[in-house]
Amino acid sequence: MTWEIQLKESIRTIQEVSSVVNISSKEIKRLAHVVERHPMRVPPYYLSLIDPDDPNDPVRAMALPSVDELNLMGSYDTSGEKDNTKMPGLQHKYPQTALILSTNRCAMYCRHCFRKRLVGLPNHELLQRFDDAAAYVRQHREVNNVLITGGDPFVLDTSIIARFLEMLSDIPHLSLIRFGTRTPVTLPHRITHDPDLIRLLKKHSLPQRRIYVVTQFNHPREITEESVAAVDCLIRAGIVVNNQTVLLKGVNDEPAILAELQNNLAGIGVNPYYVFQCRPVKRVQHHFQVPLHRAFDIVEAARGMLNGHSKRFRFIMSHRKGKIEIVGKKRDEFFFKFHQARNPADTGRFFSRHINPGQGWLTDTEEIDPGRMYGAAS
Ligand code: SF4
Repeated sequence: MTWEIQLKESIRTIQEVSSVVNISSKEIKRLAHVVERHPMRVPPYYLSLIDPDDPNDPVRAMALPSVDELNLMGSYDTSGEKDNTKMPGLQHKYPQTALILSTNRCAMYCRHCFRKRLVGLPNHELLQRFDDAAAYVRQHREVNNVLITGGDPFVLDTSIIARFLEMLSDIPHLSLIRFGTRTPVTLPHRITHDPDLIRLLKKHSLPQRRIYVVTQFNHPREITEESVAAVDCLIRAGIVVNNQTVLLKGVNDEPAILAELQNNLAGIGVNPYYVFQCRPVKRVQHHFQVPLHRAFDIVEAARGMLNGHSKRFRFIMSHRKGKIEIVGKKRDEFFFKFHQARNPADTGRFFSRHINPGQGWLTDTEEIDPGRMYGAAS
């Protein structure tokens, strides 16, 4: 089946869900409300990974809506994306990195998505003119890498991706171009069944400036013959493939599962780059977030089962103030370090904070308490 047919034959309605898994008529009504607000799309390939007999199936949790999404705890913009937007579709939070929101569409609308506010929905934050974004990057010489994301840029036509790459390729201060895409996981056919895409990526992934694909495998069962073939196509085309796992309640919140995932990723040539603490996103926090105490214990226990290559990832909170690494804990005191900071003066700073048992995130006032800062690391 081609990737276009996979997309066309995706399931999008609760009625279609009820033909795949058992749900009561009462639940159908409640889930219809969820899907009205946040659309659903699951391609046949990803649907085939779900165990229809297990209501707690981890793959199902990522793909099919749940009544837990009716809980409105949290916010829709937890990392301050609005404040970092320089023009529609272009964010510039860290000096070296520009981020382009190329589309609101994805092969699958993951239920845990932190951009839930825009995926599959009309939104004014999306890119309108790529040449304006490229001009911004050209003018900002401190930008040495661009992340093209969305939504998922790999659902765009290959000719559009070609235009992005052509416009960025002659900007001399760019040392790498990244695509944030979950298609290797949710729709590997996009990569294995489009030789034009692979030729294009190969053409632009030069020895001195590689193309990176940043993907998101969250569970070992997502590593299949098809997804391994997609990763292999990318690697053979000279693409560097990194993975960002999100720690998700009911999906990978067990050390053995997390360890198996990172170990198997390293085995297929995917670099375990980050494990993200799940953000407090509205309709996601209640459903998927693991409290920090437990989250840290899971990650540490998983690290204990891994070899050096498989545990290269950092455990990160992608916060309004920056990417904050969760580096340690001693009873109720946690130790954090700014891995990337919105305010460059914070980069490398350590700080500690008392964390309550049920707490899953740092509030804005907590993480910048100067009394707990320990100075720059460098
Ligand atoms: S593919 Fe990425 S952007 Fe799209 S819904 Fe999933 S997590 Fe969100």
